[in-house]
Amino acid sequence: MEEAASRCSRGNTVYDLTVIGGGPAGAAAAISAARCGARILLLERGQFPRHKVCGEFVSAESLGLLENLLDSRHATLLRNAVRIPQGRLFLDDRILPTAVDPPAASIARLDLDSALWESAVNVGVDARPQVTVQGVNGTGPFRVSTNAGEFESRALVNASGRWSNLTPTDNSPAEKWLGLKAHFAETSPDHSVDLYFFDGGYCGVQPVELSHEKSGQGRINACAMVRADVASTLPQVFARHPDLQERSRQWRALSEPVSTSPLIFRRPQPVRDGTLMVGDAAGFVDPFVGDGISLALRSGALAAECLAPLWSNEISLANGVRRYGELYRQRLGPVFRTSSKIRRMLMLPRVLRHPLLLALQKAPAITRYLVSKTR
Ligand SMILES: Cc1cc2nc3c(=O)[nH]c(=O)nc-3n(C[C@H](O)[C@H](O)[C@H](O)COP(=O)(O)OP(=O)(O)OC[C@H]3O[C@@H](n4cnc5c(N)ncnc54)[C@H](O)[C@@H]3O)c2cc1C
Repeated sequence: MEEAASRCSRGNTVYDLTVIGGGPAGAAAAISAARCGARILLLERGQFPRHKVCGEFVSAESLGLLENLLDSRHATLLRNAVRIPQGRLFLDDRILPTAVDPPAASIARLDLDSALWESAVNVGVDARPQVTVQGVNGTGPFRVSTNAGEFESRALVNASGRWSNLTPTDNSPAEKWLGLKAHFAETSPDHSVDLYFFDGGYCGVQPVELSHEKSGQGRINACAMVRADVASTLPQVFARHPDLQERSRQWRALSEPVSTSPLIFRRPQPVRDGTLMVGDAAGFVDPFVGDGISLALRSGALAAECLAPLWSNEISLANGVRRYGELYRQRLGPVFRTSSKIRRMLMLPRVLRHPLLLALQKAPAITRYLVSKTR
């Protein structure tokens, strides 16, 4: 670390790497790069802990990586997390059960994002909350302007999420989609991720626990993605599906609802102007596949891996960035393609969806196959 710091303080470059955004992608990039001895600045406009709109389903593919990123003080977060070995798709008047194998983990973002942030601090990252990046100059080195002054670094990772002042988006989408979420009390919820589909959206429900609460309190997370003209509150969402409406009658709110909009799906773009784009800033995958956090962690770690030889001057920044773009497309690109196909299928009008559902119900292996293709 000392060596990296002194190397970086030569000339004008103070940091090896600036990471914008302290969510899972930014934390993964910062922790992984700091472990390679680089001097890292992590800037986050908000602060932790905080609730975030998310189904809180962490797919098994990234649990090993998550365990590796969290420091020993936060190891219990993963160890104690509720496991989700099965799912149920409530579509029209049918219920399609599917195994989640290997089981996923359910981890509240309130806990997950804080644990990653603290792990970054503990590994020596200069992590600064409540610092908003307002603009970036250069394509390497980079000068980053913020509400707390200017910073300079050799490389830049943009982990500012799906929708930020630094992530240009396409023109206004034809349809406006919202994300809504809250925690509720439910007696003895099944260890299942239940997805209730209706025309214009869906709502996921799964058990979750908070690290500071006693285990087995009966807390569930309800998280919906819905078209703005269909519903704008969770009670309106619950009313769109008879089974969900019935189930939600016994719920008692345990958190204030949070919302986010718009949700815009676009093709991933892992590199922009010499910057490595990670997590949702690179591309937003349909939430129902439950892979956003996994993609965020994996792309963040991949960015750090591709930049590692830069710290010892073995490669140029341009080569590190190019390598990241290639590996991102190879390893993470397929998830986007398959999930958008499945989304289009599930969002078909009811009359077209019906024959498809019959086929899926008769052949559960197809459902398992479809889910596996998003992995
Ligand atoms: C309705 C819904 C349900 C979902 N459910 C799931 C699920 O069950 N499982 C799953 O895996 N994924 C789910 N996702 C997706 C998941 O939430 C995201 O993929 C994940 O949060 C991406 O992490 P990230 O670090 O890229 O971005 P974020 O978590 O959004 O973090 C970006 C950070 O950057 C900060 N930031 C932004 N701009 C600036 C700036 N200018 N300066 C400084 N900081 C800035 C923000 O404050 C934020 O903290 C869901 C998403 C939605 C909308």
